[in-house]
Amino acid sequence: MSERMREYEIVEPAFRNLISRNARLHQLWTGAAWAEGPVFVRDGDYLLFSDIPNDRIIRFVPDLNSLGGTGSVFRAPAGNTNGHTRDMEGRLVSCSHGNRRLERTEHDGRVVTLADRWQGKRLNSPNDATVKSDGTIWFTDPSYGILTDLEGWKAEPEYGGCHVFRFDPRDGSLKAVATDFVKPNGIAFSPDEKRLYVADTGISHDPNGPRHIRAFDLRDDASLAGGDVLVTCEAGVFDGFRCDTEGRIWTSAADGVHCYTPQGQMLGKIHVPEVVANVCFGGFKRNRLYICGTTSLYAVLTNVRGAQLP
Ligand code: MG
Repeated sequence: MSERMREYEIVEPAFRNLISRNARLHQLWTGAAWAEGPVFVRDGDYLLFSDIPNDRIIRFVPDLNSLGGTGSVFRAPAGNTNGHTRDMEGRLVSCSHGNRRLERTEHDGRVVTLADRWQGKRLNSPNDATVKSDGTIWFTDPSYGILTDLEGWKAEPEYGGCHVFRFDPRDGSLKAVATDFVKPNGIAFSPDEKRLYVADTGISHDPNGPRHIRAFDLRDDASLAGGDVLVTCEAGVFDGFRCDTEGRIWTSAADGVHCYTPQGQMLGKIHVPEVVANVCFGGFKRNRLYICGTTSLYAVLTNVRGAQLP
C-alpha cells in the first residue's frame, strides 16, 4: 500500500531515501503552450527548454539566492524544437520538428544540420535525443511534428515508419537501430551505457497502442538486442525521461514523475499539477530535477544525482 505525503507518493520504502521530504516542488516559470525537452547547461548554470507550439526555446536562469529565477526567450523562431541534449563538447543538440532534422548549435551560434534524411527520404520530426560518451547521438523520430501544423508543419511521412536512429558525427552516418516502434519518444542510456531505454507513446493515436518503455542491450557493434517492455505506464504516457547515477529511471507521466528501478519496479512518484512531458537533472550537483509540465517549468531538490552527459 503506497503512502501519500504532499507531492510525494512512496510506493517502495527505498523511495524515501531518494527524495527529501522537506523539499517542495516549485513552479519556476509559466507561459508555455507545451513545454518540452529540458537540458541543463551546468557550465553556464542555466536551463534550456522548448515551448513547441510557440516555436521558441526558453532559457531559465536560476537565482542562486532563492529557489526562483528568470525565464527569457533564448531563440525564436526555433524550428519548433522538441528535445535537447548536449554533445561531449558541450554543444547544444536539438530535435527540430519544423526542420525535420537533428541539429546542433555550434560554439559560434550557428545552427547546423546533423541529419535530416535516411535512405534519401526526409525524417518525420525528431523528438528526443541522448548522447553516448563516444559522441554518437541516438534519437527518436515519431510523426508528431508533421501530423498537424501545431508542433511543426503538416506533411507526409516519407520513409514509412517511426524509427530510432543513431547518428555518428565522426562520419556523418545515420543508422536505424530500431524499426518496430509505433511512436518512439523519450530515450536515454543507463549510466554504464550497456542498456538503451526508449519509450513508445503509440497509444496517443491508437487506443490499443503502446504506452511503455522498452529496454535494449547494446552490442559492441552499436546494434541493439532485446527490446522487451520494461515498464508500462499507468497514468498517461511516458514521454521524456532521464536516469540517475544508480540507473534508476525518472520519467514523465500524466500525474507527475515516476521513478523506477533498472528492473522496472516502481519506487514512487512526484505528483505535479500538470501533465509532465519531460525531465532533466540540473544544478551544480545535478541533484535538482527540472520538470517540463505542460505550461510550466517546475523543479524539486532530490537526494540523487543525474547521470546525464556531459
Ligand atoms: Mg517527447
